[in-house]
Amino acid sequence: MKLRINSLKEGAQTIEMTVTKTEVGITDESFINPILTSLKIDKGPRQITIKGHLSTEIILECDRCLESYRRHLESDFLAILSPVESLEPGSDENIIPITAKTNEIDLTAFAHDALLIEIPMKNICSESCAGICPGCGANLNIEKCRCKAAPFDDRWKPLENLLTNSSEE
Ligand SMILES: [Zn+2]
Ligand SMILES: [Zn+2]
Repeated sequence: MKLRINSLKEGAQTIEMTVTKTEVGITDESFINPILTSLKIDKGPRQITIKGHLSTEIILECDRCLESYRRHLESDFLAILSPVESLEPGSDENIIPITAKTNEIDLTAFAHDALLIEIPMKNICSESCAGICPGCGANLNIEKCRCKAAPFDDRWKPLENLLTNSSEE
């Protein structure tokens, strides 16, 4: 995701664009849609400030019921373009050094990192998700538990006998 800075006018402006996940370096398969990007740019005499807002959708698998669900994802990043000569060593990671000759800057890493950090660690399709019954495997959101209703599985009979015998010894 690149931006030509010598075409920017002085002062505040907003650039809207739609990029693909490849354009922001994302290979994660959870990401499905194009990424709507809004860049609020303020071009000052020395510095250019870019506030990026990203909006997209991802597909996740619920930890409880294992069904896929869509989730909206939004993220922000900040990039400050600052002349090389005014930078101090170890300066802020949001800063992109520029010179008078810099024409194009690359925001790929900013967008990439901002999006990936928003992927939740815990994925629950809904707060009320009832999950899967460990006994019968029923998805309790859409079906009833079959544990009690199911007739006893004959395949377990020999095991039952075995257990009964061993407890009698
Ligand atoms: Zn769920
Ligand atoms: Zn069950």
